[in-house]
Amino acid sequence: MLPFKLIYSDDYYLPIGAHVFPAEKYRRVHARLLETGIAAAGDFLKPQPASDQDILLVHTPEYVHKLKTGTLSPQEEMQLEVPFSPELVHAFWLAAGGSILAAQHALQDGVAVNIGGGFHHAFPDHGEGFCMIHDVAVAIRRLRRDDKIHTAMTVDCDVHQGNGTAAIFAGTRVPSGTLPSQSSQNAGRMRSAHAGDVFTISLHQHNNYPAWKPLSSIDVDLPDGVGDDDYLGWLDNALSSGLRQFEPDLLCYIAGADPYREDQLGGLALTLEGLKRRDALVFRVARARKIPVMVTFAGGYARNVEDTVTIHCNTVLAARDALSAPRSG
Ligand SMILES: [Zn+2]
Repeated sequence: MLPFKLIYSDDYYLPIGAHVFPAEKYRRVHARLLETGIAAAGDFLKPQPASDQDILLVHTPEYVHKLKTGTLSPQEEMQLEVPFSPELVHAFWLAAGGSILAAQHALQDGVAVNIGGGFHHAFPDHGEGFCMIHDVAVAIRRLRRDDKIHTAMTVDCDVHQGNGTAAIFAGTRVPSGTLPSQSSQNAGRMRSAHAGDVFTISLHQHNNYPAWKPLSSIDVDLPDGVGDDDYLGWLDNALSSGLRQFEPDLLCYIAGADPYREDQLGGLALTLEGLKRRDALVFRVARARKIPVMVTFAGGYARNVEDTVTIHCNTVLAARDALSAPRSG
């Protein structure tokens, strides 16, 4: 048994046909975790779809109405980059429910992993980049509404910038200039801005989708081809900077598998080992400060889908190892 819960439903599968997004990855991760004995059946919790009321904590009534009545314009559907269907709407409502459940259990157990979610390109009034509903933002807003948390931090390690996250939580933010970055031979760049109640960190490849990158609290714009050691240095620096400025009640880790060097949509060069170290670093830093961590999976487009599955399963292993390690300051 794991010392925390995994949130999963077979209905996380996205009915989008042949697509670069490997919609079957959720089922494969679930199966792999069981086959390898990393998890037992009792470790999994089945989510319910989020309520419309929960979705409306983040998304506009107009957008929600269009989704529920199937009346997106052709342009809006094109921007989503996945074919619209009522079944797809259901899968996104379910992913949001899963992230709410994961956030609730993270507060109980220190960690919880949604074997899905991380749809960080969804905006209040539209979806894009395979993301219809911003499940992580819905979970944060729901826990705030329930008075379970007052503050949250998103740590987005998907190779693509968390544009939806930045836009949703940008309300009270004032740009505060550029942070001094670590000395590195690599020409990455760290931008920062003051946060409201949600502090957003995004580490991403600069030269990649989305073209327009709204300001996160901290954005680390990485050049093409960054490898393990440089990436981990930037991540360490961003986490330290963020946690000097802000004390979150919950950390939402968006553990994208697409910084991997074999990714079809990414241009960074992390190895499987480097991605494990990335996960371990996030969990270690959070645990040292007693911050609960809610994990979502976001993107992953490895040429071999089994690599994507491995990266996501390794995140579960890293969470287990971090929870079983003695706490150090
Ligand atoms: Zn991505």
